[in-house]
Amino acid sequence: MTRTVYVNGEYLPETEAKVSIFYRAFLMADGVYEVTSVLGGKLIDFEGHQKRLERSLNELDMKKPAAFDNLIEIHRKLVELNGIEEGLIYLQVTRGAPGDRDFAFPDPETTEPTLVLFTQNKPGLADNPTAKTGIKVISIEDIRWGRRDIKTVQLLYPSMGKMMAKKAGCDDAWMVEDGFVTEGTSNNAYIVKDGKIITRNLSTDILHGITRAAVLKFAREAQMVVEERPFTIEEAKEADEAFFTSASAFVMPVVEIDGATIGTGTPGDVAGRLREIYLEESRKVAV
Ligand code: PLP
Repeated sequence: MTRTVYVNGEYLPETEAKVSIFYRAFLMADGVYEVTSVLGGKLIDFEGHQKRLERSLNELDMKKPAAFDNLIEIHRKLVELNGIEEGLIYLQVTRGAPGDRDFAFPDPETTEPTLVLFTQNKPGLADNPTAKTGIKVISIEDIRWGRRDIKTVQLLYPSMGKMMAKKAGCDDAWMVEDGFVTEGTSNNAYIVKDGKIITRNLSTDILHGITRAAVLKFAREAQMVVEERPFTIEEAKEADEAFFTSASAFVMPVVEIDGATIGTGTPGDVAGRLREIYLEESRKVAV
């Protein structure tokens, strides 16, 4: 089926949607993005994603696209036009296409930001069988730039990390800087020890995950103890459980790190419970 996508105010078949070769995301990775999941035809954590998008734009001094206040309607229309029951919506804003290549930012008065959205249909997203078996990760050095709190489209190193994991027969890579885990290639990382949930504290070193914020809130409401601090791969290997969170995977158990089995080698109770709570509670407030 040909998808209907959104490009700068227009809903078009994907085969007809086009952007300029001077598009700054293409030339300079000068763009930011968001991924919002859809469950039951509704948007999960939409407000959080919109707020983070606004923050990313502000941090990069990028003008808001004219349709910023209508983003929820655009998301909903794409869900409807593409009949998405379970899936994802990708949104990208870039500094536009100034008509030439230049390191200096174009004048925002004359170059409008570009806004692109498309859907990814993923039937069975919430019922992902991988959540019942867990995934394996490797650790790799984190050599990304220093503003990982901004959700930019510079994703080459995370892509390379994913390929390194695949080559090692694993599913993902956790990145390590100065001896401590920062995050996964496209997710936030956690361990559980003696019932305590440990995850790196927010800073410019990691993306401020929208799923992370929701999961930690639900965990605290369920009287679980949360410790926000960096942890090492050695500590992770000794943990009772490990897991990660992201908008597309929700809460995903990790059962092996660098070849070492975590806990019993099967998804842990805390990760399982948090996945259940997150899915249940976020569906209730989905828009
Ligand atoms: N960390 C990184 C580097 C990511 O790319 C992502 C999501 O793409 C996350 C964390 C998780 O963020 P969220 O829960 O908002 O999807």
